[in-house]
Formats: sequence, structure tokens, C-alpha cells
Amino acid sequence: MSARKIVGIAHGPSTQWVFEGTQVRVIDVKRDVRVSGPSAVRAYAAMGLSDAEISAALVFEFPPMRAAQLEVEFVALTVHCECGDRIQATVSNQDVLVHCTCGRSWRVPLRLEASIEADPDAAVESDLQPGNEVISLDALLLARAQQVVDR
Ligand SMILES: [Zn+2]
Repeated sequence: MSARKIVGIAHGPSTQWVFEGTQVRVIDVKRDVRVSGPSAVRAYAAMGLSDAEISAALVFEFPPMRAAQLEVEFVALTVHCECGDRIQATVSNQDVLVHCTCGRSWRVPLRLEASIEADPDAAVESDLQPGNEVISLDALLLARAQQVVDR
């Protein structure tokens, strides 16, 4: 079976990455394989995904589709002022001023910054192989094969 392309489809304001002509989301494959390992590979194979497609999902890097934006909807915060008082406030925009009874004011900028720290949960990891950050599809397929033999 040849590998179908991974395509981005508009889903409301978001983009979802699926295998062309299917509803199978790449993010689900990544997450399920990370959590369940070989049993997830078996499940997706049973759903018709080829090994090449599962492998493509595991290494897929989500491309930028737009500039990142921060939308502040509702943020509750407490400012502990230098004076000893504290001010509780709710924020509904990105740059808020909090005024203390003492006369001081505190600006609370909420802004989005890209972090260079990768989300450790986003990688395909395995507790079975300490030291290996990424579990390869070959390792998963080998594990799957061995489970079949074990039965
Ligand atoms: Zn104060």
C-alpha cells in the first residue's frame, strides 16, 4: 500500500492534519503511539494505515500556518504590592494596569513568546527504552511481531 499524503484541512479556525481522503488525524496517531506503543500501531494498521503512513505521522512536524496570536479571554490574577496589600483583578485584554490602594500601579503585560524548550510529551518516547528519546517504527513493528510470536 502506498502512503497517502498528509494534508492540512481547515476545521473552523484551526487546521487539522490528516491522511488525504481520511479523517485520521496525525496528532492522534502521534499521541496514541506515544501512549500505547505497539497496540496503537496495531489499531491504526487495522484501520487501514500502512506502516509507511504511521511512520510518516510519527516524524511529521506541523508546519506554521499563520502567525501566532494571543487572545486573552479571561485571566484572574493577584498582584502582591510592595506596600503589603494585594489586588485581585480579572484581565480581559492583553495589557492591563492594576491599581493598588496605596497609589502604586502595576502593568501586567500578557504576551506570547515562542519557547525553544520542546514539550517532552510531544516526542514519541518510550519508558521501555531509557536513553532513547524517539521510538522507531521498526522497534514498534518488532515489538508487534514478537507479541504475535508470544501467543
Ligand atoms: Zn500597594
